[in-house]
Amino acid sequence: MSERNSQRVLVTGGTGFLGSHVLEVLAERGYNDVVAPTHVEYDLTEQSDVRAMFEAVHPQIVVHLAGLVGGILTNRERPAEFHHENLMMDALVHHEAWRAGVDKHLTVIGGCSYPADAASPIGEDTLFRGMPQAESAPFALAKAMSVVRAQAYREQYGFNSVVLVPGNMYGPRDHFDLHDSHVIAALVRKFVEARDAHASSVTVWGSGAPTRDFVYVEDVARVLVDALEQYDSADIVNISSGTQVSIRALAETIARITSYEGAIEYDTSMPDGQLDKGYDVTRMRTLLHASCDTSLDDGLRRTIAWFETSRVAGAVRL
Ligand code: GDP
Repeated sequence: MSERNSQRVLVTGGTGFLGSHVLEVLAERGYNDVVAPTHVEYDLTEQSDVRAMFEAVHPQIVVHLAGLVGGILTNRERPAEFHHENLMMDALVHHEAWRAGVDKHLTVIGGCSYPADAASPIGEDTLFRGMPQAESAPFALAKAMSVVRAQAYREQYGFNSVVLVPGNMYGPRDHFDLHDSHVIAALVRKFVEARDAHASSVTVWGSGAPTRDFVYVEDVARVLVDALEQYDSADIVNISSGTQVSIRALAETIARITSYEGAIEYDTSMPDGQLDKGYDVTRMRTLLHASCDTSLDDGLRRTIAWFETSRVAGAVRL
């Protein structure tokens, strides 16, 4: 066993979507001292709890993935909570990790922290060049402070703190709640349920014209652990596939894989959001020597298979 994977790793948010996949990658790579407390054990918005967690766990490495996350509708309904909880969790976990003498801290922010008008594919240097989309700005700016914080602690204390930016993630264990999920989870659920009910049509939000850069969650988890092992820089790195696909093409692919035979309708009264959103993945390729290569077809097949099995077992977050 290498010296690295005998280190104690603290993962916050280990029961979450990305966190659960990161735990699997750590296990595959032989990390056998991984601690992943739940929010029942520690409230990460309270400094006393965060300090108690570090005193109890004594980690050498911290992967901070806990956060209050949700779709555009929830962000619109609860902007103060989304701002406060994320800002507090991120600041406290980072500060207490530094204070406890942790060797490395790694966290993620969402692509929604980039300016609303950033040109696609979005390069990392555009981060602070404009305001994020208004609806999610309280959340997105709180998360963007992770980048400021990592740079400040690196400059003043030499703290090895890394921030990554995953693209539009999808995969097994995503949230499949139709009110609040992202497009892939929503459409997988809609097409599977429509097929089973022999429904004559499925409704997709917006015009179908927007494009997104979808990335399979297991690819992100693998690259995240690569960065944990190899990367030590204040420069943020996009983690995505680097390819864009339209919502129309996505809907048609999911219809084909689920063997849905009805019509696909577009509800243009629902928002399209940003028209094109892709990520520049040059840094990921050159600095991390990594790529996210699971094809959309393969990733969708695995996601759909997981959804179909897990919903029977009642294990889907609906
Ligand atoms: P974001 O726009 O990048 O934050 O990500 P989303 O996954 O929420 O939406 C991506 C695109 O998919 C947008 O253009 C949506 O209008 C479109 N879309 C189509 N149908 C749905 C749906 O049922 N749910 C969601 N969330 N988005 C949908």
